[in-house]
Amino acid sequence: MALREIVTLPDPVLRRKARKVTDFGPKLQQLIDDMVDSMRAEPGVGLAAPQVGVQERVIVVEFGDEEDEKAPLKLYTVVNPEFTRLSKDTLVGTEGCLSIPGYLGEVERHASVVVKGQNRRGQPLTIKAQGWLARIFQHEIDHLDGVLFVDKATKVWRLTKEEQEQADEHAAPSLGD
Ligand code: ZN
Repeated sequence: MALREIVTLPDPVLRRKARKVTDFGPKLQQLIDDMVDSMRAEPGVGLAAPQVGVQERVIVVEFGDEEDEKAPLKLYTVVNPEFTRLSKDTLVGTEGCLSIPGYLGEVERHASVVVKGQNRRGQPLTIKAQGWLARIFQHEIDHLDGVLFVDKATKVWRLTKEEQEQADEHAAPSLGD
C-alpha cells in the first residue's frame, strides 16, 4: 500500500488541464493502485490524478448505493473519461473536496450521465450513473480540466471545527470526495 499526498489549493496542478493517457504500462498501474489506497485512506468516494499531483486523465471512484448504506462498494477506475450523455434533469447537492479541506458547497449537477473511457488495461468501458454516482463522476472529471466544485457552487461555506470532526467520523459520501 502506498499513499500519495493529496494536493490542496492553491497548488497550480489543480488548475491545469490533465493530459490524455497513452501508456498503460507499470507507471500507470502504480499510479492507479496508489490513488485507490489514498482515496480509501482519507476516506473519499473519488479521486482524480491531479489531486495527487499527476497531470494525467485518470480517476478512481468508489461508491455503493445511495439508498442502501449496507450495499457493497463498487470501485471504478476510468482512464481518459468523457461524457457521452448528460441528462437535462439536474439535482442540487452538497459537495466537498479533499483538495479544498474544510469547505462545502451546493452544486447543481446532471442527474444522470454516461461515461466512456478505458479501464486500467486500456480496454474501452462505458458506465451509466445516476444521482450521487453521477455527481461523483462529474466532480472528478471536472478535476481533469482544472475545474473545482467551488467554481460551480451557488453557495460555499466553511465547516466549523465540530462539523469537520463529525464529517471525519461519519465520512458521509457528500463530504468525502
Ligand atoms: Zn475534488
